[in-house]
Amino acid sequence: MTATTAEPTGAQARQTHYWRLRNGRTLALTTSAPRTWHIRPGHPGGAYSDLGHELDPPEHHVPTVLTRSRPTGRREEEEFRGGCLACDWEGPIHRGDGYGDGDNQAVEDAHDHAFPGWRTLPPLTTVEDRSALPRDRGRWAQLTSRYPPGWLDHGAPLVAWSRHRREAHAPPHRGRPRYELRVPRPPGRRDIRLAEQEALF
Ligand SMILES: [Zn+2]
Repeated sequence: MTATTAEPTGAQARQTHYWRLRNGRTLALTTSAPRTWHIRPGHPGGAYSDLGHELDPPEHHVPTVLTRSRPTGRREEEEFRGGCLACDWEGPIHRGDGYGDGDNQAVEDAHDHAFPGWRTLPPLTTVEDRSALPRDRGRWAQLTSRYPPGWLDHGAPLVAWSRHRREAHAPPHRGRPRYELRVPRPPGRRDIRLAEQEALF
């Protein structure tokens, strides 16, 4: 490693550094790029995200997720941490397999940074509502009227009861520019239909 590979901090700067490594613009081996913090593909500011890649930082905090792999014995282990496209804030490191393990905590940290108190937002309580409710203007207006002022325009998340333990949070995309965060169904709030279905298995 040389001085040119010193990693910057902040999601935007790390992403730029990552692509310089991958494209061979530094003296470091391009193979070290996956072990360099970068925005997780599909998350805001990362590869495959169709939200846009404008160079000016947004005027409000924008949650995203950073990832890197680390060698641990024979296998590579993934690490995750929350990031923000507007400032240099970075969350604590979480290890996991992804798919809701490690990456979920990082997404939640990033939302604690950008939208403190998001856990108290009104939840979507059925799986059907996840697709139907945002298209139903009346119910959408009703749900989002309980959001703090300005949050909706700044990409505040949708909160939905999860279908199973550690269901992965869904990153935003152009059609729905906000994360969908899956939270555990509160105890005592299980609907009868679901309980009956589970009794069959
Ligand atoms: Zn921020």
